[in-house]
Amino acid sequence: MSLSTLCLHCGMCCDGTLFTHVPLAPPEAQVLRGRGLTLAAREGGGEVLPQRCAALDGRCCTAYAERPEACRRYRCQLLNALADGEVSLEEAKGVVDAAHARVEAVARAFPTSRVGAASAMRGAREAALASPSEQIPREAREVLTQAESFLDRHFRGRFRHSG
Ligand code: SF4
Ligand code: SF4
Repeated sequence: MSLSTLCLHCGMCCDGTLFTHVPLAPPEAQVLRGRGLTLAAREGGGEVLPQRCAALDGRCCTAYAERPEACRRYRCQLLNALADGEVSLEEAKGVVDAAHARVEAVARAFPTSRVGAASAMRGAREAALASPSEQIPREAREVLTQAESFLDRHFRGRFRHSG
């Protein structure tokens, strides 16, 4: 129960903060397409579910019963720590709140990052990669770097974002 409570408080592995897409097996792609979700082509063949996931409503998965295997299996480091009793639910929610605050700081530091982007983090990453360094203030890059580092430390671990 507390595991799902934490995820409903978070949503970052579905909203584009941590990852860019979910890998799909062909039958999963067929099911999700049948639900009207837009998929994207995967380099090398096949399809992926782009994030922010179109099945996410607020912080709730509207395709829960039919979610892909990668979604069923995924647990971030924080959720594992909660499951193993290494942190309490309140402590874990505090980490999520701190992560949300860092993402908000990134959105403020990259004010155009939400325009046309799937998520503030993804927009900021793409802006930082595409723009010459003199066009983005050093402070903004530092806010982004610190947010990525926090997300790595508490959530992604070895599963870094791609793209
Ligand atoms: S990032 Fe972790 S805590 Fe957040 S929704 Fe995903 S699995 Fe749950
Ligand atoms: S299908 Fe559900 S669990 Fe999977 S990324 Fe989308 S919202 Fe998250």
